[in-house]
Amino acid sequence: MDLREMQRKVHRTAVDHGWWDSPRSTGEVLMLIVTELAEAMEAYRAGNPESEQISGFSKLEEELADTVIRLLDFAEERGLRLEEAVHAKMAYNEGRTYRHGGKLA
Ligand SMILES: [Mg+2]
Repeated sequence: MDLREMQRKVHRTAVDHGWWDSPRSTGEVLMLIVTELAEAMEAYRAGNPESEQISGFSKLEEELADTVIRLLDFAEERGLRLEEAVHAKMAYNEGRTYRHGGKLA
């Protein structure tokens, strides 16, 4: 399954489960993506225990998966070409200078 297919499938599941019954603002959805990253940070700070939801995975893996799922859901809802943008940005990044010309992070 490529990223485009995942985007459609993730969004279908979210719609079927009622997460788009009411309109959601871009700001709200972007912050929900950030909250998944915050949960990933909390998992890391807690020593990255086993996930209680997905067998055989760590909590950090679970929260990063949640982050990607929310990103894909948002992209599909807004008609964004995330897979194409990722490919385009990867190609751009490959051509950039070492540490982008001196960036610290
Ligand atoms: Mg989560």
